[in-house]
Amino acid sequence: MDDTNQAPIIVIGGGPVGAATALGLARQGLQVHLLESRPTLRADDRRTLALAAGSQHLLAQLGAWPSVAVTPIHDIHISQRHRFGQTVLTAQEAGMPALGHVLRYNTLMEKFSEVVQETPGLCVETGAEVTAVIPGNARAEVVWQCQGQERRAKTPLAILADGGRALTAQVFGAAREKPYAQVALVAQVETDQVAGNLAYERFTSEGPIALLPLGQSYTVVWTGTKDRVEARLLWSEAEFLERLQEAFGRRAGRFLRVAGRSWFPLALKVLPSVIRPHCVAIGNAAQTMHPVAGQGLNMGLRDAAQLIQLVTRDSSADVGSGAQLQRFVALRQRDRRWGIAFTHSLVGVFSNDWPVVTQGRGWALAALNGLPGMRRALTRVMSFGF
Ligand SMILES: Cc1cc2nc3c(=O)[nH]c(=O)nc-3n(C[C@H](O)[C@H](O)[C@H](O)COP(=O)(O)OP(=O)(O)OC[C@H]3O[C@@H](n4cnc5c(N)ncnc54)[C@H](O)[C@@H]3O)c2cc1C
Repeated sequence: MDDTNQAPIIVIGGGPVGAATALGLARQGLQVHLLESRPTLRADDRRTLALAAGSQHLLAQLGAWPSVAVTPIHDIHISQRHRFGQTVLTAQEAGMPALGHVLRYNTLMEKFSEVVQETPGLCVETGAEVTAVIPGNARAEVVWQCQGQERRAKTPLAILADGGRALTAQVFGAAREKPYAQVALVAQVETDQVAGNLAYERFTSEGPIALLPLGQSYTVVWTGTKDRVEARLLWSEAEFLERLQEAFGRRAGRFLRVAGRSWFPLALKVLPSVIRPHCVAIGNAAQTMHPVAGQGLNMGLRDAAQLIQLVTRDSSADVGSGAQLQRFVALRQRDRRWGIAFTHSLVGVFSNDWPVVTQGRGWALAALNGLPGMRRALTRVMSFGF
């Protein structure tokens, strides 16, 4: 690569946001270099994702929507433990074929690893650990290690999609961070009822429990304090199922089996500014959120969609120029601000037992239950952003 106008755009991080961005830019005829530190784009990650309609649309356009191991969600049942107030969001009421789809992170990355191979203009380099990104007035410079060798290249646009690791802080400064007093336990559970297409979100004083249907079984995301989650990882299967039943109730049937328990730390991390000269941060690098509302990747993919559109269709500014990046910030501002605030307030309001708050959220759920217009508005926001 050389330092000319034709130098490729460099995308750092081949997770779902980086891979989608690289693919989208290359499909529009741009030269793109994707750098991923793992030895392959395929992942070994136990997380299950609920992706909204807007995300499915983008991934389908990119040819990266998996055709197998994906379960549509038709309805979402929302309730709170030991308190009144519940509601059901339905695809039928929203006039949509599905409220979202459930799939594993690994399934998505498997699909990306297939399609990137066939994309002209896209060079994927795995085993490439980026060690520095240096913003500059004319170009940004990217430095990486691959097979024990240091490489460097200049680019009109370095896109950081590293998931908010150390590199992001090095380039953009420290994120505003708020660790939650919760971590998430993730596992596969079977009940005596076929999972179908109904997802559950149940709020408890310790944090939310989500059941996401995937094939015949569910993925449970059970949040709690780190000490409790560590204990839950060690419980026998029988004890785990009994305690989960007690916490979740019986609306999804009797829990019969659990497998693949693992946990993830949870924190809110937001970059005060996502741009530097010829550099931009997107996805979890720009904002890492609690999974309570299933918004993290959905928002990251909206970052990707907007950036692809600007870079490929806005002929009024050069690729990676200050004017273009400022425009990106302006276009993403509302969705980022409200999406982060919405998710953060859900965690606060639905994770405590203060009497005033429990009453208030009971009334809020009851009101939502009685107001179809409000349910439709909520569904729309969760599907397409703010
Ligand atoms: C338990 C849990 C459940 C979740 N559920 C949902 C959900 O239902 N719906 C939803 O929308 N979101 C959900 N999320 C959030 C979602 O997982 C993230 O928002 C999403 O993975 C972010 O994608 P990303 O590509 O930005 O970052 P990542 O997925 O973190 O990918 C970053 C990539 O960058 C690579 N990388 C890092 N540093 C470097 C470097 N220096 N050089 C080269 N490569 C590098 C990494 O190896 C990785 O492949 C959940 C999160 C958790 C923890």
